[in-house]
Amino acid sequence: MIELSNVSKTYGSGESAVHALKDINLHVPKGTIHGVIGLSGAGKSTLIRCVNLLERPTQGSVTVDGQEMMRLNRSALNQARHRIGMIFQHFNLLTTRNVFDNVALPLELMGEKRSAIQSRVLPLLEMVGLADKAKQYPAQLSGGQKQRVAIARALASKPNVLLCDEATSALDPQTTGSILELLRDINRQLGITILLITHEMEVVKSICHRVSLISNGQLVEDAEVGDFFTAP
Ligand code: ADP
Ligand code: ADP
Repeated sequence: MIELSNVSKTYGSGESAVHALKDINLHVPKGTIHGVIGLSGAGKSTLIRCVNLLERPTQGSVTVDGQEMMRLNRSALNQARHRIGMIFQHFNLLTTRNVFDNVALPLELMGEKRSAIQSRVLPLLEMVGLADKAKQYPAQLSGGQKQRVAIARALASKPNVLLCDEATSALDPQTTGSILELLRDINRQLGITILLITHEMEVVKSICHRVSLISNGQLVEDAEVGDFFTAP
């Protein structure tokens, strides 16, 4: 479902060049939850942003659902991005829009009719457990509730891939647990492939099928979660 082949990313050039990713090969099969773990500055954020081309790799190729992302023109890339949801550490909700209108935003941008938006957003809010919060504003919600809104928004365009950039790092352990449970349900019930990055072992242990370890821009290990955490 997601394939990175020989992906490198360098920020800047000459003396100040930062080699954030070095020859990354990563294969995430359809329907799996794949974790990428590593220290701050290892390149996790750059890696996940290369999947939907928020960052363009300097070298290599990125294939998502059979489409070679770097070969797409602007409009085809926009279409492809509808199939790739993303959630972030700090939720990135629009503070001037209520919960309903945050989730509706991607559908509005796609030009959907109001009636279609209504019938899509309400079930999504139910799925994330926020049906009774549709009229509230982000400032009135807890961190966990904000992330649930962001998840509903990410699912609005019916993606088959969900990218999670430190999605639980701003949450307390209990809330983290409930968000991970929601992500697990989304993977199981909707068959959505999940790529998540985190610096927390517990996140990987609790929901990932496979895990890659990234260090200084290189993938240094790639294993089943069970094998990864087995003592030598
Ligand atoms: P992580 O997500 O693991 O913390 P990042 O991908 O954010 O790692 O960063 C990897 C390296 O690339 C770091 O050295 C970081 O400072 C650098 N970096 C990230 N984004 C940029 C940027 N836009 N410009 C220059 N350097 C960057
Ligand atoms: P996070 O770790 O929460 O993703 P960061 O503070 O690392 O956030 O980065 C925030 C933004 O700044 C990102 O868009 C990233 O690409 C950019 N960035 C990170 N490191 C650098 C850097 N050394 N130089 C320029 N931009 C950077």
